[in-house]
Amino acid sequence: MGSALGNLDTVRFSKVCSSCRDSLPVAYFRQRGRAKLCAWCEYDSPRLRAERRWVDIRRRNREHPDTLAISKEDFVSWYASQPDQCSYCGLTRTEKKTLRVLNRSGRCYVSWDIDRLQPGARGGKYEQGNLALACWCCNYWKSDRYTPDQARVEGQARRRVWDAQLALINRRRPSRRGPA
Ligand SMILES: [Zn+2]
Ligand SMILES: [Zn+2]
Repeated sequence: MGSALGNLDTVRFSKVCSSCRDSLPVAYFRQRGRAKLCAWCEYDSPRLRAERRWVDIRRRNREHPDTLAISKEDFVSWYASQPDQCSYCGLTRTEKKTLRVLNRSGRCYVSWDIDRLQPGARGGKYEQGNLALACWCCNYWKSDRYTPDQARVEGQARRRVWDAQLALINRRRPSRRGPA
């Protein structure tokens, strides 16, 4: 356990963002690590994050265009109106950064997964009333097998793990002001 965290804290935190001054893995900077701002600072607007998500959803559903039954404008305003956190475990965007929550590809994205309450496998579309923001962990766990209510139960358990891990990280993090 200790070594895994040690690895995260030292080896992979190798670049300082010129805006938030956080030391982060190079993978959190766009342009293959050459960007000066970390992705969190670069996408510091719900509108930008929503537009990026829209492009991604459209690309992934280009074979089934009728799956996307919401206009870009409506999608972007829906996204911006949502609390900036996972609907199931309550993870916030800042916590996601602190915890380095990675997704399947081993990268950490600023924007949320777009969960379809009624999953695609059961005919659920991307449309008003069928969408929820989710962290990758909750979205992946829910898949097309569990209901939103079940995902919330699982999310509450995951929330306790996030809280314990956040407490651990905060204890290990040296004070930025240095010793008094
Ligand atoms: Zn930053
Ligand atoms: Zn979650």
